[in-house]
Amino acid sequence: TAKQMQSGVEVYTELADHHDRSRLLLLTQVRRAIADRQFVLHYQPKVSLTDGVVREVEALVRWQHPTRGLLGPAEFIPVVERTGLIHQLTLAILDLALTQAQAWLSDGIAVQIAVNLSARSLHHLTLPGEVADALARHGVPAQYLRLEVTESALMADPDKARNILTRLNELGVSLSLDDFGTGYSSMSYLKHLPVDELKVDRSFINELLRNAEDTAIVRAAIELGHNLGMTVVAEGVEAPEAQHALLAMGCDTAQGYLFAPPLPPHDIVPYLTVHAGQ
Ligand code: C2E
Ligand code: CA
Ligand code: CA
Ligand code: CA
Repeated sequence: TAKQMQSGVEVYTELADHHDRSRLLLLTQVRRAIADRQFVLHYQPKVSLTDGVVREVEALVRWQHPTRGLLGPAEFIPVVERTGLIHQLTLAILDLALTQAQAWLSDGIAVQIAVNLSARSLHHLTLPGEVADALARHGVPAQYLRLEVTESALMADPDKARNILTRLNELGVSLSLDDFGTGYSSMSYLKHLPVDELKVDRSFINELLRNAEDTAIVRAAIELGHNLGMTVVAEGVEAPEAQHALLAMGCDTAQGYLFAPPLPPHDIVPYLTVHAGQ
């Protein structure tokens, strides 16, 4: 009952639940891991379908865990995302990405870095100011940063999201609509967003050549993106046949294991040296 629920005993019983305990442990470890710099970024190229040139890479976080090895985002982002800690983690990741961008720029590698924002970051009206500070601190021009936001993140509070994205856009940061097709954003809402790239979700690309519905959806997404003045990226491209089909449909850019998986910095640099086309 309500009275019981408020009692310390009840709260303790709840926290003692194994699931919650492992969650709390994870959050404690994440907090420590930020301070101890255990998070690292891997980079996956975004390849132009028309000329094969790589002008951009997406930063994808990994956790170099002291006992569990290298962990992918699925093992911690969903838990962290349910708490305010995700904003701190996002800012730490932004810091890592801009450190890398600065190092590459001074080596003559001019590549844009895309950083994923969590849905929760779009609750923080302070975000544009924090991004501006981080760019200034690292001496990286805003044009080298892109932020990827998911369609469903935008729809949680559309007006607030638009406010934040507009201010990020005014800084000169590029914006992508990630996982497009998996949320429910209306076309009239998209029209008013300062987003210049639409990323078609991997789930539609997987079976592109075997599934007529997926083909129709991808074709429609490409047309919608272009009609709204955006470039269109296909994610999860694994087969040359999909690459060719996407090119024929007018898709601009592709990402996927066919080209390269997310690579650690020392492996992405030789890749960029060959493909960055400078
Ligand atoms: P996402 O932003 O949609 O990223 C694409 C995911 O697809 C990445 O998984 C990438 O490794 C994977 N992928 C790329 N090409 C292929 C392919 O050809 N085939 C298949 N099967 N998969 C491919 P990853 O790195 O495990 O990231 C998963 C998700 O975790 C991301 O989805 C993103 O939502 C989230 N995430 C990753 N890094 C960050 C981050 O720094 N911050 C936040 N907030 N979320 C992140
Ligand atoms: Ca992404
Ligand atoms: Ca995506
Ligand atoms: Ca996805």
